[in-house]
Amino acid sequence: MIENVVEGIRWIPGRDKFLPDSHVYVIGEPESHDLSLVDCGLMEMGSYKIEALESGGIDLNHVHRFILTHTHMDHIGCLAELLAVIPHAEVWVHEAEGAFLERGDSRIVFGNKMFESMIRTQYAVDENSFTFKVHRKLTGGEILMLGGVEIEVIHLPGHSCGSIGLYNRANKLLMSGDTIYADGAIGRYDLYSADSGELKRSLEFLSKLDLDILLPCHNRIVRSGAKPMVENTVRQWSPILGD
Ligand SMILES: [Zn+2]
Ligand SMILES: [Zn+2]
Repeated sequence: MIENVVEGIRWIPGRDKFLPDSHVYVIGEPESHDLSLVDCGLMEMGSYKIEALESGGIDLNHVHRFILTHTHMDHIGCLAELLAVIPHAEVWVHEAEGAFLERGDSRIVFGNKMFESMIRTQYAVDENSFTFKVHRKLTGGEILMLGGVEIEVIHLPGHSCGSIGLYNRANKLLMSGDTIYADGAIGRYDLYSADSGELKRSLEFLSKLDLDILLPCHNRIVRSGAKPMVENTVRQWSPILGD
């Protein structure tokens, strides 16, 4: 399934099983022939996303890049699978996590030893499974023009060191990765490279954004009126997160 959120931004819902699988967003006006995919999903969860793209009339030749909100396994687990089908696509990620991908350091991907051993027993992952060429390292602050859609990159460390949000000012729309979700939930802050104080500062930044549409990478999306929900979420979590 693929559905329009606003003109130029489409949504392929993730399919959680007992492990989460991230949503994928498609940025770009169809006629631009310049499409970007935001995140990929869990291992072995690539093929239905390819089917969703094709059923939505998207020519895979028009997909030019993957932009990763961060590099946890539920977001990049099927990156290799998708790159096998879309080999010309570039990989863009925040520089803090790009360095890990380039040297094949999978500590952020797995998050902790328990997840790592669980994944290694269930999936065919080897030492090189999470080594990728990174074509563009983002820093935050970039204003990108992606297939006719303007996107600001916001560095949101906390859930992981290189987490980013993608903000479309025209629609007051935020793709928030795993930093904040609908209905009062925030990203966990106990995994490798996470930092609760940084997460608090990132959330406080988001609570000041002009927001209407919230597109997190898990669970439901908020199609309008997201700002008071985000403000409430941040108000509730800030004292718990400390400094
Ligand atoms: Zn995550
Ligand atoms: Zn996630």
